[in-house]
Amino acid sequence: MLIATCGLLVVIAGIYVLTPLFKEPGGNLEVELLAETELDRLLARKAMVYSNLKDLEFEYKMGRLSDGDFRRLEAGYKSEAAKLLQDLDRLGVAKDLDETIERDIAARKAKLFPGTAEKTRRCPSCGAESPLGKSYCADCGGKL
Ligand SMILES: [Zn+2]
Repeated sequence: MLIATCGLLVVIAGIYVLTPLFKEPGGNLEVELLAETELDRLLARKAMVYSNLKDLEFEYKMGRLSDGDFRRLEAGYKSEAAKLLQDLDRLGVAKDLDETIERDIAARKAKLFPGTAEKTRRCPSCGAESPLGKSYCADCGGKL
């Protein structure tokens, strides 16, 4: 009886684990929500190409690649990276992702706290907020 119960549990677990693999992705809301956007796809691809380039340089430095192989592979990755950057540009993503993120944060801040965002600047020495356009901190007199 115990063995039968265990067997049944294994079968149920197996069905539970394997069923999603055989499901049709079309029409499944969850799958659609998880679907990558074009941007996600490009960013992931870019990260991969960059990491491949790093690996390649490492292999080359370790002496595991000939000059010719290294140049050929490097040229391939670089041209792919250039194409990805073009595609990202086409999507309106700045090459500098940090810049994009900063802009995003500023935009969200402006939405959450209208009237405050982008109107003050934090003093690098004391941390006090000063209005934009001022060159010196009102609190400590440090250069902004
Ligand atoms: Zn200050």
